[in-house]
Amino acid sequence: MLNCSDTPDSKREATELFLFSRVPVFLKTFGKFCRAKEVVYTWGAEGLPSVGSRKHLNFICFRFIIVIMLKSKTFVKKTRSGGVMKVVREHYLRDDIWCGSEVCTECKQESTVLQKDACMESSLCSYPHYLVPDTNVVLHQIDILEDPVICNVIILQTVLQEVRHRSAPVYKRLKDIIHEKEKRFYTFTNEHHRDTFIEREPGESANDRNDRAIRVAVKWYSQHLKTFESDTDGLKVVLLTNDQGNKQKAQDNGLLVYKCEEYVKSLIANPELVDRLALSSDDKNEITSSKVLFPEHLPLSRIQTGIKSSSFLQGTFRASRDNYLEATVFVQGEGEDSTEVLIQGLQNLNRAVHQDVVAVQLLPRSEWVAPSSVVLQDEGTAKDDEDAEEEEGKVTAVEAARKPTGKVVGIIKRNWRPFCGMLNVSQIKESTRHLFTPADRRIPRIRIETRQASTLSGQRIMVAIDGWPKDSRYPNGHFVRSLGGAGEKDTEEEVLLLEHDVPHQAFSQAVLSFLPKMPWAITPEDMMKREDLRPLTVCSVDPPGCTDIDDALHCRELENGNLEVGVHIADVSHFIRPGNALDKEAANRGTTVYLCGKRIDMVPELLSSNLCSLRSNVDRLAFSCIWEINHKAEILKTRFTKSVINSKASLTYAEAQMRIDDTNKNDDITKSLRGLNKLAKILKRQRIEKGALTLSSLEVRFHMDSETHDPIDLQTKELMETNSMVEEFMLLANISVAQKIYDEFSECALLRKHPAPPPSNYDILIKAAKSKVKIHTDSAKALADSLDAAKVDGFPYFNTLLRILATRCMMQAVYFCSGMDSDFHHYGLASPIYTHFTSPIRRYADIIVHRLLAVAIGADTTYPDLMDKHKQSALCNNLNYRHKMSQYAQRASVAFHTQLFFKSRGILNEEGFVLFVRKNAIIVLIPKFGLEGTVFFDSKDKVSPNIVFEEEGPTLSVEQHKFHIFDKVKVTISLDDSNIQHQKIRMALIEPVIPGVSVPAPDTERPAKKQKLDH
Ligand SMILES: [Zn+2]
Repeated sequence: MLNCSDTPDSKREATELFLFSRVPVFLKTFGKFCRAKEVVYTWGAEGLPSVGSRKHLNFICFRFIIVIMLKSKTFVKKTRSGGVMKVVREHYLRDDIWCGSEVCTECKQESTVLQKDACMESSLCSYPHYLVPDTNVVLHQIDILEDPVICNVIILQTVLQEVRHRSAPVYKRLKDIIHEKEKRFYTFTNEHHRDTFIEREPGESANDRNDRAIRVAVKWYSQHLKTFESDTDGLKVVLLTNDQGNKQKAQDNGLLVYKCEEYVKSLIANPELVDRLALSSDDKNEITSSKVLFPEHLPLSRIQTGIKSSSFLQGTFRASRDNYLEATVFVQGEGEDSTEVLIQGLQNLNRAVHQDVVAVQLLPRSEWVAPSSVVLQDEGTAKDDEDAEEEEGKVTAVEAARKPTGKVVGIIKRNWRPFCGMLNVSQIKESTRHLFTPADRRIPRIRIETRQASTLSGQRIMVAIDGWPKDSRYPNGHFVRSLGGAGEKDTEEEVLLLEHDVPHQAFSQAVLSFLPKMPWAITPEDMMKREDLRPLTVCSVDPPGCTDIDDALHCRELENGNLEVGVHIADVSHFIRPGNALDKEAANRGTTVYLCGKRIDMVPELLSSNLCSLRSNVDRLAFSCIWEINHKAEILKTRFTKSVINSKASLTYAEAQMRIDDTNKNDDITKSLRGLNKLAKILKRQRIEKGALTLSSLEVRFHMDSETHDPIDLQTKELMETNSMVEEFMLLANISVAQKIYDEFSECALLRKHPAPPPSNYDILIKAAKSKVKIHTDSAKALADSLDAAKVDGFPYFNTLLRILATRCMMQAVYFCSGMDSDFHHYGLASPIYTHFTSPIRRYADIIVHRLLAVAIGADTTYPDLMDKHKQSALCNNLNYRHKMSQYAQRASVAFHTQLFFKSRGILNEEGFVLFVRKNAIIVLIPKFGLEGTVFFDSKDKVSPNIVFEEEGPTLSVEQHKFHIFDKVKVTISLDDSNIQHQKIRMALIEPVIPGVSVPAPDTERPAKKQKLDH
């Protein structure tokens, strides 16, 4: 077992060597040192860089010699196959571990982290001091540790290891802090230091042993540093612990020790830091009443027994967006056998929060209910929450509509993250307790304590949940940080990135350290392994302003009269090597996220916009897919090769189109483009004949003001022939590569599939079209044909509307590992196999596909994870998740910019079409803006008109008028900003005119113009 990772600066933290003999390469190196069965090597708390490199092994040997062997422990371990393995664990102590302090003259350290003048102004500690937090302080008060105020902190190895075992997210955050130079967090490997390592005593629990190890290390530091200070008010070490017992023992040992809260409150210059304190368990009583509101959660042991005996079910808790008293628990079953359990009412929800893993118990059948269709927002104010009696609108449901209903009996795993939202400042004057309303409606409101309420009101802030006691109506939490004023562009952008879980921090030093050193050039060794395709007339065609060019093409006539077409893709996997920090970061990000006017890169800019970008007139490394094709677009030969290219032109779609159309032009680039265009048309026709769908979704493009970056115009994107030309060859390359990697690695090819939608998905499309045309949906081909035939005289937009609606019926395409699935079909493309090869700069899936292809053609070496179908499947899950979230983030960004646009425009009126009818509203699409909005017919402040909804149509009658899908309407468009967290585009009906319902057409003159007239 080899645990590998890369953190170059933790090299000196080599901690444990467990030596055995399963891995031959280690055997050779360690042959004379070890006698046992398996090699396990852990590097600090991190793991070790790419195993197998010579330099590395030398390094290990070197370390090995200087360590002093302390002792070996032997124990037996059951193996998976049932056998027994003897394991010898040897623990090495070293005398070369530095203390990391500037004042020290004894440790022979190469560099220091902790400052001599470590000054955090505290009323408790008037001297310079280093902080040593214990494990629980790190786990619960990580927000405090992250604050820029807190620096010069010693993180003991004992603490680091415990944190790693207990919380992966906190561990990652702690590692990030340690990497931040300004924070001056020093990791001290106390478990391997000769003077601070302790053994567990008989009868001592692991926890107590660790607490003692921490105290011993603190004691050592105090004495070690004292030797360099003559002054008694010199540098000291302060232990932070919230554990009363530990604190007492530390005091008895003569250590300086404070509770985290005591210490934070003592910081003179930073009173606001107190807000970031997580509430510890003994604070709870202070802010909650004695009244028990919720049933007790069952302990984990009872839950496990219950799940085993099937009296409980385990599932993911999904809160309703519309009704805060309702949720479902998704219980994953075998295959199709998954179920959803409905949960209604505060007591039954029992403090579960969206995304928690919970245990539920089904209620007796007689108590099952139907999902309520009411929209119910929790709007209670802070003052009445102490004894709010919930009126739970029990819906008496028809028998058929009832769903399996249950109650939450326990929490298996909390999935709390920091939430964005806004503060509802308490009505009570001078109260420090306030309710926080998260932006995500599925998250309950959270009670926090803060003294800065007046400053924070009107700002977007982040809050973390600390706990949810059974006597509290709301969970308790604490303020994490402010994101800025609500409604401001930068703030809202940050919110939407955070809420869609898009990793968007700057790349860390560890990641950047794996970038090539500049100036970079292609070396003769690179050339030797590659085909030199620089003489070819390669060019790229992209949207205007594209700087991350990952594909380029060429087409030329061969002597035999056939054509040679090449698709050349940026060779990103040459730069990103498996398993290093850069690779891990890209794998975690999964995709580049494109927002309006902003791009969040998957890989650092040096790669995305420079070394990997196939810009014109520079030599670039590529991975090429080259076909010999005849003039009927039949593929005669396919080959793949790593190459070097030199693109002759970076064109936009429009420029490429102009060259093709300009009969006076006859240069090589233009000829190449014409050849590609001709073939692409044939390929597309063939594809459509096979049943590929051409669907439609209106993509919007904003014209931004170059200075303010505000949207000044909004139009739908226009597609040219050249768009489809490039697309056609990318599809072809993806299909060719998919086939190749699957042929070579049937168990671990990373592929992409698009499942056929269940027939019922098409109901709405068939119903909507039925008065005008008949839509067949038995196959993709039948659907494609009937969409092509669907034309109505005098209604040219009808076909586009149908295609937009058809797109909504589709399933999501997903990545999967070929060894874990049997259905590979890509429904939309009508292809039996498909993958992603053509965008490795912005999609991580493509990087894996490049690596597989490179191994398949012998151009690169493989590594274990690449051939592990379970690991690959887990990777696919992350990529699918990131991909989905990036789409949501992109939509949210478009929505936000649309709102900004309409905010500046006042009320507009436009023509649109009914896209859906709902029970109390119609959804209208405005083709001009690609904008969808809702016209509600029941409003709080008006007498509702007479509304009748008919499921079968579906139609909605409003007074005398009956609305159908695709009806043409005229509406006003305006921005409803009454709820600053949930601004919305609102529409109101102008035409058809329904007395008492529709509104008069507004004066559409723009406010800006009016102002001009006034002057
Ligand atoms: Zn020292």
